[in-house]
Amino acid sequence: MRILAKHGLRAFWFICSTVFEGGAIRSEIYSHAAAQMGGMEVLANTLVKQCPAALLKELNTPEFSQYRRKMLQAYPFYSHQDCQFRFLRNSAEHKQLFEEVMDQVMTEHGLDPNQISQRLWMDREHLVFLRNIGHTIGLHSHNHPYTMDTLSYMDQQADYQTNFDQLAALTGHPPRTMSHPLNSYNSDTLRILESLGIECGFRANMMAAPGTAYDSNPLTMAREDSTTLLKLTE
Ligand SMILES: [Zn+2]
Repeated sequence: MRILAKHGLRAFWFICSTVFEGGAIRSEIYSHAAAQMGGMEVLANTLVKQCPAALLKELNTPEFSQYRRKMLQAYPFYSHQDCQFRFLRNSAEHKQLFEEVMDQVMTEHGLDPNQISQRLWMDREHLVFLRNIGHTIGLHSHNHPYTMDTLSYMDQQADYQTNFDQLAALTGHPPRTMSHPLNSYNSDTLRILESLGIECGFRANMMAAPGTAYDSNPLTMAREDSTTLLKLTE
């Protein structure tokens, strides 16, 4: 915040509203834990070592090979371990098992998910402050699901409507912008966002839609990943 102010910069802030109700976004807790443990490779290797067979066997499926291929196309900087971690994390079938193993991995490394959670989220006052000094507050879903594109129209609608209503109530202004959580969306998502009056939405990579030099849909605009930007400063 201080750095942005120093350079006179204003930014988009895409906000998940569950944190204002005491909820947590586990993918963010895991990212924080990975940084504390020395990187995603360390975290994923530890996870794979401790993984029960029921979960581990998912990495020996054609679905994982296909997922890995797609991910490396969209995010060439991802490691094999990144792909393993994300694939296991996204498994709807083994959600509870994955969370249990991850809790165990974090605890063994002296990391308490609840303690991490307490320090990660901004509160309502921060949000209002950002809006009042000219930053743009946008949607990022209420619950930050791992795979928005696998949810039904009704579930997506309920999630984005809650996110919209809460941000509008807190800031006093209806949001007009958004970014897709974990780059996940489908045609239902775009219809829902349009009906909420969202004018501009961002993906999480620079890939052009097939057959076009750039993506002209204002709800799926390309965005450079911060990993690439950070590399420019090295
Ligand atoms: Zn996110």
